[in-house]
Amino acid sequence: MVNYNSVTDKVIEDIKAAVSGKVYVGEEINIDFFHDEMPIYGEGQPDLVVDAVNAKEISEVVKICNENKIPVLARGAGTGLTGAGVCRFGGVMINMQSMNKILAYDEENMVVKVEPGVLLNDLAEDCLSRGYMYPPDPGEKFATLGGNVSTNAGGMRAVKYGTTRNYVRSMEVVLPTGEITQFGATVSKTSTGYSLKDLIIGSEGTLGIITELTLKIIPAPKETISLIVPYEDLDTCISTVPQLFKAHLNPQAIEFMEKEIVNMSEIYIGKATFPKELEGIDIGAYLLITFDGNDEDELNDITEKAAEVLMEAGAIDILVADTPNKIKEAWAARSSFLEAIESQTKLLDECDVVVPINMIAKYVSYVNQRGKDFPFEVKSFGHAGDGNLHIYACSNDMEKEEFLKEVEVFMKDIYGKAYEMGGQISGEHGIGYGKKEFLKMFEGDVNTELMRGIKKVFDPNMILNPNKVI
Ligand SMILES: Cc1cc2nc3c(=O)[nH]c(=O)nc-3n(C[C@H](O)[C@H](O)[C@H](O)COP(=O)(O)OP(=O)(O)OC[C@H]3O[C@@H](n4cnc5c(N)ncnc54)[C@H](O)[C@@H]3O)c2cc1C
Repeated sequence: MVNYNSVTDKVIEDIKAAVSGKVYVGEEINIDFFHDEMPIYGEGQPDLVVDAVNAKEISEVVKICNENKIPVLARGAGTGLTGAGVCRFGGVMINMQSMNKILAYDEENMVVKVEPGVLLNDLAEDCLSRGYMYPPDPGEKFATLGGNVSTNAGGMRAVKYGTTRNYVRSMEVVLPTGEITQFGATVSKTSTGYSLKDLIIGSEGTLGIITELTLKIIPAPKETISLIVPYEDLDTCISTVPQLFKAHLNPQAIEFMEKEIVNMSEIYIGKATFPKELEGIDIGAYLLITFDGNDEDELNDITEKAAEVLMEAGAIDILVADTPNKIKEAWAARSSFLEAIESQTKLLDECDVVVPINMIAKYVSYVNQRGKDFPFEVKSFGHAGDGNLHIYACSNDMEKEEFLKEVEVFMKDIYGKAYEMGGQISGEHGIGYGKKEFLKMFEGDVNTELMRGIKKVFDPNMILNPNKVI
């Protein structure tokens, strides 16, 4: 374990002298900065928060921290789900939210240059207003793009369009030693040595601070349609998914959800859209599918073909949402799952496991069965199209210590099963602090040592977001 130095009055003075952005010390710091969206992984208080203004000032702050061996952490909107954005050893937090300008579109190369504090929602809307789409679509629209890149966020459209990684062309980065450098380029292909850009993506702020991003955009599809597909049980529901791919259908999104979680979410948003009983059959689970295309005829053909496959695979009905309002309504409950669970649960832990698509049904059935051995409730939903599942352990009546103890046993078991089936610990939320021990356990010594070596090369004094990931 590295011994860090405290933030002294001299360090505070040096930082204040080096920056033009606002600096907050001690009690001036808003308590929202002490945790992220998964407080179960612990809180931590920075000694000082600096509003980021530009790469040069960030570099000056990082240099001061490096010389004084003080921990430093870049913070986006704090929506992370792994405890990655929390200062566990005090030190300096650099708040990236003030660097929030969309800088320029390069329409010939189909890229947009942004500051890292731009919110996903702002870029998505700006792109759409110009006829473009920025495809990554994680559930939290008010996270920063720097945070999205640092966690390699996935989201609903990953099944067709890939994750954030597929849209990062280049970035400007401040290294933990204070140097400012550029990784990647605007080019659409490259084979130019090790991909340092790809090391930064998903590194959860442990290798460098992103100060500018060049992101790929695509022409926005002209038409979209969503289908709510009810099933009697979860197993039949999830088993349908590989059939859609076998039929050469290419959905933009496929989410699976159990009835209980839909109920919770509909109570939370105050509107019920999903049928609970059809033809005398109690609905147990649903698929929510979106297709996109360039004209109505193309989309009608796709919907017809999909309907055939879905009904043959055991769907009870297919409800079509074909106007922007109906599509919004269909997705409203899905978009609020996490908030709905949070609002109705005292203690909560999450597993963001990913398994091969043809293993989803088997895996979820294992998890639900195993969950019965524990004194908490298990709820699951997920991105059925890419095998990324969100499994929640929830309790309203357990003591925190007992909950943590039991959850650890449960998580170890279900991560182990995922690896056995060819999966991995995290599909899109990352490792941060909360999953660190599991990474070591399941990725093994060889891979963990390689990751440690990479960290040391980037950050010899281990000052940047210490004690996260590895
Ligand atoms: C309701 C909800 C739904 C979600 N749904 C999805 C989903 O469907 N798919 C999905 O993939 N994710 C999902 N997420 C997770 C979400 O994608 C992440 O929370 C988000 O990407 C983090 O961005 P942030 O700006 O909040 O970063 P923070 O939480 O502030 O930080 C996260 C990590 O990124 C680092 N970081 C932030 N900015 C920078 C920077 N400029 N340079 C270097 N490091 C930086 C931090 O140090 C930290 O390690 C969801 C989260 C919530 C709360």
